[in-house]
Amino acid sequence: MAVSKCSRLSGASVKHLLDSVDCVLFDCDGVIWRGDQAIPGAAQVIHLLKENGKKVFFVTNNSTKTRRMYAEKMSTLGFDVKEHEVFGTAYCCAMYLKTVCKLEGKVYLVGSDAMKQELEAVGIQQTGVGPDLIAGKQADWANVPLDPVVKAVVVGFDQHFSYMKLNRALQYLTQQDCLFVGTNRDTRLPLEGGKAVPGTGCLLQAVETAAQRRAQTVGKPNHYMFDCVASQFGVDPERCLMVGDRLDTDIMLGSNCSLKTLLTLTGVSTLADAEAHQKSGCAERQGMVPDYYVESIADLLPALQG
Ligand code: PLP
Ligand code: CA
Repeated sequence: MAVSKCSRLSGASVKHLLDSVDCVLFDCDGVIWRGDQAIPGAAQVIHLLKENGKKVFFVTNNSTKTRRMYAEKMSTLGFDVKEHEVFGTAYCCAMYLKTVCKLEGKVYLVGSDAMKQELEAVGIQQTGVGPDLIAGKQADWANVPLDPVVKAVVVGFDQHFSYMKLNRALQYLTQQDCLFVGTNRDTRLPLEGGKAVPGTGCLLQAVETAAQRRAQTVGKPNHYMFDCVASQFGVDPERCLMVGDRLDTDIMLGSNCSLKTLLTLTGVSTLADAEAHQKSGCAERQGMVPDYYVESIADLLPALQG
């Protein structure tokens, strides 16, 4: 039965959709939790999906935690999740550098301690994590000491981001054989009450502007996140559902990888945003129109309990 895009999932259509997939990918913030609070019913949905024999994975653009840290957070919030089921950009970025780029050499890291840990876990050394306290005169900044073994600049979320880091990244990226990789391009991190703070995309764009080069990103909507899951667990895209709260990252990832897509309205994007993409008539924007939407993933519960 052909269903028009962006239809509300309810009643029998939930069971119909779940029967058509073997695997469900969940975005994290805005889908299973908001900040430090679990979305009501999310833990039960995950538990019941697994009990019904579905593979369940978590794909997050947030590079500030290792897989282990995510597994710990999930356990605290009452989710039944194992470390190997979590694909965060800190981990995926390390895997990308190792398996796709086959990087030999160090990383200049503009990022978090979690990124350092995931790089080291795959045998990649880094320099740069933490504040960059170099002083000196402006005339000397273009000659800051560089580590000759650095062969990649990697940008993720970095609360110590500074002019000096930007400068050092530029000096490394002036070397044409230096790879340039970013975790993700989310420009804003929304907070409760309509507030927001700058996301990794702002830092990445600053480095791109300085270096006059464009980075390769690994996070959503780039297909690499899905490739990473699929290569480890043999997932058939046609029988996989991507659940997310953001049209430009989560739903676009699903479209890029030919997955079924479900927007949940507990996070960033609204139904009006999705409808605006749909009505725009713009081919590129159709990738941001989900197949289905729900108010919350708790709407999946009746079909799983029945
Ligand atoms: N990046 C950072 C630094 C974040 O804090 C967040 C959300 O908390 C995100 C990205 C978006 O994460 P997700 O892909 O789970 O929505
Ligand atoms: Ca999200």
